[in-house]
Amino acid sequence: MAEAVPAALGGLFIDGRRVETAERLDVVDPATGRVVGNVARGGVEHVDAAVAAARAAGEGPWGRTTGRDRSKVLLRISELIRENADELVRLESLDVGKPVGLCRPVDVETAAEQYAYCAALAQTMDGSVRSTPFPAHAYTVREPVGVVAAITPFNFPLVLSSTKIAPALAAGNTVVHKPAADTSLSALFMAQLFLDAGVPAGVVNVVTGSGGVVGEALLRHPGVDKVAFTGSTEVGRHAAAVSGQNLTQVTMELGGNAANIVFADADVESAIGAAVKAFVFNTGQFCMGGPRLLVERPLYETVLGILAQAVPGVPLGDPRDPATVVGPLASARQREVVEGYVEQARASGARVVCGGARPELPGDLADGFFYCPTVLADVKSTDPVVAEEVFGPVLTVQPFDSEDEAVEMANGTPYGLAAGLQTRDVARAHRVASRLRAGIVWVNDWALLDPAVPFGGVGASGFGREYGPEALHSYTRTKSVVVSLA
Ligand code: NAD
Repeated sequence: MAEAVPAALGGLFIDGRRVETAERLDVVDPATGRVVGNVARGGVEHVDAAVAAARAAGEGPWGRTTGRDRSKVLLRISELIRENADELVRLESLDVGKPVGLCRPVDVETAAEQYAYCAALAQTMDGSVRSTPFPAHAYTVREPVGVVAAITPFNFPLVLSSTKIAPALAAGNTVVHKPAADTSLSALFMAQLFLDAGVPAGVVNVVTGSGGVVGEALLRHPGVDKVAFTGSTEVGRHAAAVSGQNLTQVTMELGGNAANIVFADADVESAIGAAVKAFVFNTGQFCMGGPRLLVERPLYETVLGILAQAVPGVPLGDPRDPATVVGPLASARQREVVEGYVEQARASGARVVCGGARPELPGDLADGFFYCPTVLADVKSTDPVVAEEVFGPVLTVQPFDSEDEAVEMANGTPYGLAAGLQTRDVARAHRVASRLRAGIVWVNDWALLDPAVPFGGVGASGFGREYGPEALHSYTRTKSVVVSLA
């Protein structure tokens, strides 16, 4: 039988070479709860080596490439992702428990598209000419920031690393990537693809390990010029504060707790489709998910009735089955967090419309980290299950009586990553979208994401934008050159 986690994959990747470590991190298959392999657990010395390699690579031939040169390399990365889609899907599904039927079109395709999009952006590293009152020729150029520490979370390893590495490379930077300790496989696999695509050794380095050691060392490293962090608000606050000591540039993509507003004039079938997608997608481990459903009162019980029928029918089970839509949570710990929120809500009077338990699954899957998609009614805005980020397949449903009340409830948490509304009234769509405190607003659907459309947070969801030309700009510095004509 082929190795689940090839031994050759498990080392750190520094300066184009695999580096083995005595200390290891277990790789656990969330679908069975079994340990299926291990990867290197890096230390501070590995971070030092990776930052030094990245610095040297930036000062070497990579630093002299043009946007056109880098564009060709990024296109090749995109092609290689598609050529290696089978193995990337297998690794990502094994590591995170992602259903293969979604992993290919969502995770792998999005990553490939992201590199292709950034290949085009790499050719737009243009400055501009500025007019001045004095006799001078003044112009701006965009330069890479330098060494980027890319720190990513457990839920979308391939997509979120691409979201950082693609624009960083497009702009001519070098990278040290620290993936989440639980889900490092695709990052280690991608390290070889970068080399194969013609990215010189040392331009992208991967150091796997714990946040407290590897992540912390990156935040504190004086050789890091930018920290691109995606993760929880709690760790993000810490990361921003620590990076601030070195005045390192940071972008912070943090937690979310989005509201999805269903007005009484909505197309109910489409609104329910959007609502279900918004909370079961990626088993609810989606920063831009919609775990808070706000329904205009005349539709409230109707919507609950439809959800009670529809949600238990969403295919749940083996992520290796192409028909599966909901797989396990990524770790036992994450399932405990989710269960804790649901039990607390139940104890304080929430109505469990459906779910609220672990499913009974056969064979090996019995020990997987599964949890039934859960819908809760009769909750209050102050209940932790509503007010905090649960990060699991849990939907709370609350009624509202007016547009003002819906907006107030939607904006009623410190987060502001995404929001959505379902209505047939075009004027209301634009009016409410403008009042929602969020980096992205979807109307009459959910999770329409594309590398061309920027996203990012407001408030406790962080700052900075990924995707779109905005992402490229955030990996550059503007330099002004003023040449006297006197
Ligand atoms: P997390 O904050 O626990 O970890 C994120 C990363 O930070 C991991 O690589 C982790 O090892 C590292 N880390 C932990 N402690 C660190 C430290 N002291 N110094 C430096 N790095 C450290 O987040 P998670 O549990 O992996 O991911 C879930 C969270 O990520 C959720 O809150 C979710 O909303 C958020 N998220 C946000 C976005 C977005 O685009 N805004 C996308 C995906 C996930």
